[in-house]
Amino acid sequence: MQSFEKPILVCSRCLGFDNCRFNGQILYNDLVNSLKPYVEFKTPCPETDIGLGVPRYPVRIIQDKGQNTMFQPSTKSDFTGKMNSFVKEYLNNLNAVDGFILKSKSPSCGIGDVKVYKDVDNPANFSKGDGLFGGEVKRRFSGKAVEDEMRLSNPRILDHFLKKIFTLAAFRKVKKANNIKALIELQTKNKLLYMSYNQKELKNLGNIVASHKKKDKGEILEKYENHLDIALARGPTYKSNINVLHHALGYVSENISREEKTFFLDTIQMYKEDRAPFESCLSLIYSWVLRFDVEYLKNQTLFHPYPDELRKGFEPDRRREFWG
Ligand code: SF4
Repeated sequence: MQSFEKPILVCSRCLGFDNCRFNGQILYNDLVNSLKPYVEFKTPCPETDIGLGVPRYPVRIIQDKGQNTMFQPSTKSDFTGKMNSFVKEYLNNLNAVDGFILKSKSPSCGIGDVKVYKDVDNPANFSKGDGLFGGEVKRRFSGKAVEDEMRLSNPRILDHFLKKIFTLAAFRKVKKANNIKALIELQTKNKLLYMSYNQKELKNLGNIVASHKKKDKGEILEKYENHLDIALARGPTYKSNINVLHHALGYVSENISREEKTFFLDTIQMYKEDRAPFESCLSLIYSWVLRFDVEYLKNQTLFHPYPDELRKGFEPDRRREFWG
C-alpha cells in the first residue's frame, strides 16, 4: 500500500468550511470534501479576516489609475489598503504550501474570472481579471498548483492538480529532511511521471541529482525545486502519455505474447483517438508489471500518483473528459 505525504492546501473558507459569504452562505464542494482526509487545509477568508461582517454588502474591484481597488458601492467604502495589508501579511507568513483552491469570481479570492469594473458608476463596463488575494497568490506562487473550484470541475485539470500537489508534497518532505538519498529515491520513482509531463525537464532533474557529489546539498535541492516547478507547469499531453506507455512496454514486451502486445498497441491507438481512457492502457501495463514482478515499474508513481479514493467521485459522463 502506497503512502502519500499530505499536501498543504490553502482553500477559500466559504468552500465548505464556514458560512462566510457576503450573503451568509457556505458552498459545499465535493472535491474539497473528499480531499479533507488526504490534505492539510489552511482556510483564510480575506473579507471576514479584514473585519467585514456576515452578511455584508458586496465589494467590487474597480480599476483606478491602472490600480485595482476594492470598493463597497453601497457604503462608498474603500477597502484596498486593508485588503492589501492582509494579503501581504498572510502570504508572507505562509511557510509551506503545495497548492491553492480559490473561490471563482470572488473580488478577493478569484483568479482570472473576476469582474474588474472600469467605472464605479457603470456596472456594464468591466473586463475580467484577478481578485486582490487571488492575484497576489498567482504572482507569488507560480510554481505551485493554483486553481479555482470551477476549473477543478474539469476532470483533466483536476487530474493534473492532484498529481502536482502530491508530487510537490513528496518533494517538500525530502527538502525538509535535507536528504540526498531521499531525493534520489524520489527521482527514481517519479521517472515515468516526469516523462509524461516534460521529457526535457526529466533529463534536467536527473542531471541535478547526478551532480549531488560535486555540489552543496542546499544548492541541489533548490535547483531541483526550480526545475520541478517547470516540469509540472503544464499537464501531460496525449503525445507525452503515449511516449511513456511505449517506454513502459519496453520493460515487459519480451514476456508478453504477440497477441497481448497487439492488443496493447490497439488500446493505445484507441486512447489516441479518444475512444479509451489513458487509465485503461496504464492498467494493462500494470497487470503485466505485477505478473512479471518488474520491480522498477512497480514503484513508479505514474501508476498511483495520488490516493485512488480521490477518483471515486468522478461520474461516467465526466470520465470521458478525464481521458487526458
Ligand atoms: S470568496 Fe474568499 S473572501 Fe469571499 S467569502 Fe469566500 S473565502 Fe471569503
